[in-house]
Amino acid sequence: MNRVRPALEEALAAERQDLLDSLRRLGVADERVLEAIGRVPREHFLAEAFQDRAYRNLALPIGHQQTISQPWVVARMTEALEVTDRTKVLEIGTGCGYQSAILSLLCRRLYTIERHKGLMGEAERRFRRFGLTNITTHLGDGSLGWPEQAPFERIIVTAAAEDIPPVLLSQLAEGGIMVVPVGGQGGEQRLYRVDKGPLGLEIEDMGEVRFVPLVAGVASSA
Ligand code: SAH
Repeated sequence: MNRVRPALEEALAAERQDLLDSLRRLGVADERVLEAIGRVPREHFLAEAFQDRAYRNLALPIGHQQTISQPWVVARMTEALEVTDRTKVLEIGTGCGYQSAILSLLCRRLYTIERHKGLMGEAERRFRRFGLTNITTHLGDGSLGWPEQAPFERIIVTAAAEDIPPVLLSQLAEGGIMVVPVGGQGGEQRLYRVDKGPLGLEIEDMGEVRFVPLVAGVASSA
């Protein structure tokens, strides 16, 4: 579990407020999303060496060559999902659990899948420590979705897919929203919001992003 020095924690509390102001300036308007970001201590999701940068608008390493997303990207993805306290959400790519923690404060139940055992174990400890009891975790390949629990009203993918994954689309409820980064590692990646309406899909391009790849299968080493 990541320890945070008390003096650092105090300094970071002020920086957390500054981050909220800069997210507002960048166009994040949903006060519920901002409030959730204001409640989750991002430093606790980082190794000690990176904690002093917890409230910069940066993606940072979380081990296993993975990264915690930039707060600005977390805010936009969360906002685009339009979750309420009645929504059932699927997240692919738990990572350190930061995005999961934000969503869990806003939705009814979050199902989250991670392929790295080590990352999942750490994330689960954080969920317990912060009393986030509406999160259900699964160690496995998120590109297969979670058929036993489908359909989901919202799906968020936090690793870049080659294309909008058809399997996940099939597990999205009608009227549901999926947010997913699409593109390879060399070229450009775009963030898409997909609305599944009765007459088909409506796809909104939310702009360029940079995510680690969505990789099939469970990671072999912990
Ligand atoms: N939301 C995370 C972002 C983590 S980065 C956070 O806030 O920290 C993306 C994560 O997706 C990584 O942890 C990576 O291991 C995971 N991932 C990649 N492909 C996956 C797959 N097929 N199934 C489940 N998780 C996957």
